[in-house]
Amino acid sequence: MSDSILVINCGSSSLKFAVLTDEGQTVLLEGIAERLGESNSTLTFKKEGLKESISLPEGTHKSAVAEIKKWLDNRPTILNSLTGIGHRVVHGGETFSQSVLIDQNVIDGIAECANFAPLHSPAHIIGMYAAIELFPGVPQVAVFDTAFHQTLAAEQYLYPIPMALYRQHHFRKYGFHGTSYRYISRRLAEIEPNSLQQGVLVAHLGNGASTCAINKGKSTDTSMGITPLEGLMMGTRCGSLDPSLLSFIADAEGISSAQALDVLNKKSGLLGISELSNDCRTLEDAMASGNESAKLALDMFAIRTAKYLVSTATTLDRIDHLVFTGGIGENSSYIRAAICQQLKAFNIHIDSDKNALRGATMNIESAQSQTKVWIIPTNEELMIALDTINLIRQ
Ligand code: ADP
Repeated sequence: MSDSILVINCGSSSLKFAVLTDEGQTVLLEGIAERLGESNSTLTFKKEGLKESISLPEGTHKSAVAEIKKWLDNRPTILNSLTGIGHRVVHGGETFSQSVLIDQNVIDGIAECANFAPLHSPAHIIGMYAAIELFPGVPQVAVFDTAFHQTLAAEQYLYPIPMALYRQHHFRKYGFHGTSYRYISRRLAEIEPNSLQQGVLVAHLGNGASTCAINKGKSTDTSMGITPLEGLMMGTRCGSLDPSLLSFIADAEGISSAQALDVLNKKSGLLGISELSNDCRTLEDAMASGNESAKLALDMFAIRTAKYLVSTATTLDRIDHLVFTGGIGENSSYIRAAICQQLKAFNIHIDSDKNALRGATMNIESAQSQTKVWIIPTNEELMIALDTINLIRQ
């Protein structure tokens, strides 16, 4: 078996993982540990269409990594082919502009960014220490969601607040979904090599959602900010709004600003407007049954996405390509059509028959469109595996 890479993605209460081989092209195993920190944690392995769940009594990230190791111990061919471990890291601040081999300095650098990602960074670090301990001698690599956007110009990443706040506290736009955008840029270039010299606009629409402008292969603007809350309306996040609302909500509801922020992060977006669900598919089903709130939520989501696409596109010379990705971008023909409807003034038009298809990489623009419109399924695990392979080989 050729070299395999274990990809680990530690969230605050979950741990997703995958083992990829054949230069990242084949997924040997994937799975998820869920409800970590609770009494009913589980770990699910998926291999060749089969699913197996076990309970995880300790319910920690470390016990999840230990169970993955145990599973691999029973499959020595895969274990012996393991040459590296790639960790997804949400926030790399201004310290990390590309993926790096993990050592103590890197872990300390990730810890310094923890104030911007207080739920994720500690989980990443626990996952790293667990993997280092349980897979001794296997090189480990950190891949940052923020790294791709470190090419933004100061005019784009600075907030118009006192400069001292940036100098002292590094308060600025960082942007996220960078690993996905890097994959999309690379994948588009495989199909359209010219795209690396052109202007590409990408909408990564999942539970978390953002837009990115990529000019000649480099990120020039993105909608998310110092945290993922800025920009688009999302599953449960409000996206951009008048910042005064934070204190209005806190005062009116008699809650702290941290609790008000929780409302904006966890109870807003599609969920807040529909009063039904944060899930696009559920809302589309409800809309089909005549639920007006579900339709309002979906239409607001589409309109606000279109606004941010236009806003990020101001850093491009031309919009040569528009790419939809993420669970919603790849699968919802309703949302894609509603977004492109808002972009007519920019000569972006899609073909409704092509837009009804889904699941594969394809272009869906109509003959009159001046921009090529694409659906490209993202693959962040592949990108993490490739970065890991490249750094190990260096
Ligand atoms: P995350 O940000 O959690 O990675 P995903 O990229 O997996 O999110 O996207 C999840 C979203 O994709 C959900 O809102 C889900 O309803 C939506 N989605 C998945 N499949 C479909 C579909 N067939 N039609 C509409 N929406 C879909």
